[in-house]
Amino acid sequence: MKIKKLELFKVPPRWLFLKITTDDGLTGWGEPVIEGRAETVRAAVDELSSYLIGKDPLRIEDLWQVMYRGGFYRGGPILTSAISGIEQALWDIKGKYYNAPVYELLGGACRDNIRVYNWIGGDRPSDVKAAAQAQIDAGFTAVKMNGTEEMHYIDSFSKIDAVLERVAAVREIGGKDFGIGIDFHGRVHKSMAKILAKELEPYRPMFIEEPVLPENNEALKEIAKYTSTPIATGERMYTRWGFKQLLQDGIVDIIQPDVSHAGGILETRKIAAMAEAYDIAMAPHCPLGPIALAACLHVDACSPNAFIQEQSLGIHYNEGSDLLDYLLDARTFKYENGSVSLPTGPGLGINMNEEKIREVAAIGHDWKNPVWRNVDGTVAEW
Ligand SMILES: [Mg+2]
Repeated sequence: MKIKKLELFKVPPRWLFLKITTDDGLTGWGEPVIEGRAETVRAAVDELSSYLIGKDPLRIEDLWQVMYRGGFYRGGPILTSAISGIEQALWDIKGKYYNAPVYELLGGACRDNIRVYNWIGGDRPSDVKAAAQAQIDAGFTAVKMNGTEEMHYIDSFSKIDAVLERVAAVREIGGKDFGIGIDFHGRVHKSMAKILAKELEPYRPMFIEEPVLPENNEALKEIAKYTSTPIATGERMYTRWGFKQLLQDGIVDIIQPDVSHAGGILETRKIAAMAEAYDIAMAPHCPLGPIALAACLHVDACSPNAFIQEQSLGIHYNEGSDLLDYLLDARTFKYENGSVSLPTGPGLGINMNEEKIREVAAIGHDWKNPVWRNVDGTVAEW
């Protein structure tokens, strides 16, 4: 069996889907994208295709090594996301070839299901109370919210108080055991992150996420002195080598690799195993589409330290094109009591609605995140 063709589909709200076809007619789907740079990742996938056409799709590790190491320069969001989506599609093919779910080929399931959380606003929109209630009504037992809007290096305590008020409101309606993840989104600097981490502690968050930007991870050591709340980070980190120092430092409690950015299914499984050796949990990042979510579920299935999975059903970006819209069977992801059961079909276990994908890919998208500025005109992190 040889890889015959790679096709890319840029579909709303902000995704890029990849279909790989083999010479004996097997197909695999992947989601190679960085949010806001879909065209750049598309170009990277096109460029990598010359390493793949005519090759055996079952030799995933070897193809990964060639794609990652063969080009001399490596890593980063664009190249690693391109490899990630290709790798997912190769696993989909491999699972279909052996008529087994991907996790069966990675050691088998070590769980029956995985808890999931849904997004509520926290910045714009800021009305988290109604949004949290809607998630509770939908059966979710955990949510994630943004902590703040723009936050300058040194900013006002009114902004701190506003965060506390929003989190208090969610805690009040959710009750004691409701999981509340609070995403600082890398938009808070060390100075204010210390204050926020300390003052949020009484509300017992499930975790605080990206208290600072990943390029400032050395600041986590100081922030951790001010709180016992679990610290999470990793959605903007790539490959085993990218996570190595963070894990060695042992400051974080939860890593959040993105299966569409960190290097794919097997790479994320390897990162999970490295984290397990440092007693660190995993909660894969996934505000993306159905292929990325399926890929995450296969990693979660065989990773004992995964404790919760992000997913984008109903997320505000998805207006008009949601997670399930591109699947032939919307019941593929079975949610029950705030958890999702493991996929059972061969490969990634999803059946894509190719007709709809081709139709909307003709329209495409040009999604970019907003560029924010502080009141003094300086650029703020989004
Ligand atoms: Mg985040």
